[in-house]
Amino acid sequence: MLGKNRVIFPGEKVLLALSGGPASSAMLRQVQEGLSRETAKRLRFVPGLVYVDEGAVCGQSPAQREQNLAQMEALLQETGFPYYLASLEQALELPGSVLRRGPGAAGEPCPSYKAAVEGFIQQQRQEAAEGDGDTSSTGLSAQHGPGGDPAAPHARLPAATLTAELLRLFEAVETLTAKEELLQMLRGHLILHTARTRGYTKVMTGESCTRVAVKLLTNLALGRGAFLAVDTGFVDSRHGDVTLVRPMREYMAKEIAFYNHFFGVPTVITPPLSTKRREKTSIHRLMESFLLGLQLDFPSTISTVYRTGEKLSAAPAEASSELQRCLLCLCALDIAGEEELALQPTLVTEETGNGAESRAAFIPLLCYSCRLTFKEMGSPATLPPYVRAEARHRSCRARMKEQIQEFLLEDDQEEPGAS
Ligand SMILES: [Zn+2]
Repeated sequence: MLGKNRVIFPGEKVLLALSGGPASSAMLRQVQEGLSRETAKRLRFVPGLVYVDEGAVCGQSPAQREQNLAQMEALLQETGFPYYLASLEQALELPGSVLRRGPGAAGEPCPSYKAAVEGFIQQQRQEAAEGDGDTSSTGLSAQHGPGGDPAAPHARLPAATLTAELLRLFEAVETLTAKEELLQMLRGHLILHTARTRGYTKVMTGESCTRVAVKLLTNLALGRGAFLAVDTGFVDSRHGDVTLVRPMREYMAKEIAFYNHFFGVPTVITPPLSTKRREKTSIHRLMESFLLGLQLDFPSTISTVYRTGEKLSAAPAEASSELQRCLLCLCALDIAGEEELALQPTLVTEETGNGAESRAAFIPLLCYSCRLTFKEMGSPATLPPYVRAEARHRSCRARMKEQIQEFLLEDDQEEPGAS
């Protein structure tokens, strides 16, 4: 699948986002196979692995989390690739810049794949000629677990105060649907940040065809219809400098289960987001059980949904400035002009009146779907610091732009003097 699509260039650093689940574990095994192949079809990129521990919000005790992490680390270590263990708590310490689009990619012309391959082969020949010959071990040596003494109790886990802060953030969220969205957002930003700081230009995630089909319908229900192609497509370049790739999206969950069974691929089971006893189920889980239930009686359900999604055009509305991108999902804002009317009833009207931290200040920065999710999150004061910092930054920019508006020339405005 990767070979066919020619998205990843030889020698490129690619971060594999692993959850320990069946699909991403199968992805890891396929990458390992592909890299060790002796044919011309050999994969030639430089992989790294990242695992985000979400135990805190999944109701795991510190001991369980510790055990889970150790199990996962052993798996990652075995691959010999560099790996990074992160915990969801670290999302609270992200910089606001993670919400900004990175430079490059979008506008600049892509170098041709063929040229990149030729360059890579030439470089390899050169290295071999220089005598060090040992190209197989390049970049595969260092291991980057979190610092600290592994023997100390709970050394791998973040500070308890951070965990408490994360739990407060999730407890303030009113519905399970919004919690799922929040979890996905924090995880995504954490992985993106890891990729950026460690110099990876591609991130591979293990979403299967089944997962993509569920996500298609879920996101449709969440009001993200405009972004379906970006959210579920093979390539997702909304972040600019780091591109997300979903190489497993052609495989059904069942195929992956068989693959893992026959090739003995190990997986680590992690519990789903923990729920309060009387909480209603989320749209995510509702869609999943609906689709999987339908699939039982009509085996082509998932593939039909998936193939319908394939027909969507991936060309998103281009946003020229940071202010035209959603603060949370970084998609181009889908709320031009007439939207105010349609959105009015869904917006929050209560004003707490503490300036930039009030709910109303966030609304113009968000896309339609994120507005709905935001409505169900707690007060802005409990939001992750990096989101608040970036929101303040953007509100400030927007105000400034408003103030100097009358002195600016619009692009389509005629120049004075031109007839
Ligand atoms: Zn959004």
